[in-house]
Amino acid sequence: MRVLIVEDELRMASLIRRGLTGEGLAADVASCGEDALWMAPAHDYDAVVLDVMLPDLDGFEVCRRLRAAGVWAPVLMLTARDSVDDRVAGLDSGADDYLVKPFAFAELLARLRALARRGDTGRAAVLAVGDLRLDPATRDVSRGSAAISLSAKEFALLETFMRRPGEVLSRLHLLEHAWDFAYDNRSNVVDVYVRRLRRKIDEPFGRESLETVRGAGYRLRRDEAQ
Ligand code: CA
Repeated sequence: MRVLIVEDELRMASLIRRGLTGEGLAADVASCGEDALWMAPAHDYDAVVLDVMLPDLDGFEVCRRLRAAGVWAPVLMLTARDSVDDRVAGLDSGADDYLVKPFAFAELLARLRALARRGDTGRAAVLAVGDLRLDPATRDVSRGSAAISLSAKEFALLETFMRRPGEVLSRLHLLEHAWDFAYDNRSNVVDVYVRRLRRKIDEPFGRESLETVRGAGYRLRRDEAQ
């Protein structure tokens, strides 16, 4: 899951970013509204955290323009005051939810998870492909009755595969959803992590669910339980 954080206060932005990456999510920071307007359409973000108070455009305007530009990633708006006017303006501009500053990080994370689920209609809270299960909220992963322990990045990569079972995902798609800007164009990192995932989710179980599709990328087979 990759999140765009739009916040000009560096301290707040880096707190949120560190919190999210600590949970295994990928996160980029836009420090003004104009940056958000080019960054958001450039990547397929799973959610946007958008502060209302920005130095150039306010969050409401940014949200309106993102929607007008066809960016439909769920938007969680951060407001400084709990005023009805702000909430209404936020929802009118196309935001999906709002959070009043100061907030507990756990609540931000819970709301982002809920929004990302909602962003994809019919998305189940717990992802399941065959007997492989992954719970984004508790971070539990299992194959049948066996619990599997994954690092934060292995988890992020598996989550990306499990959100698109049966589809061939390019290394670029996997990079964009499981990593952030720091890793752009370093696609060998994907191959390394796919091998590590195979050693944990496939080999101990005699499975070959993570397929290499030559010249295209990787695919998590839908029928891997058969
Ligand atoms: Ca701000």
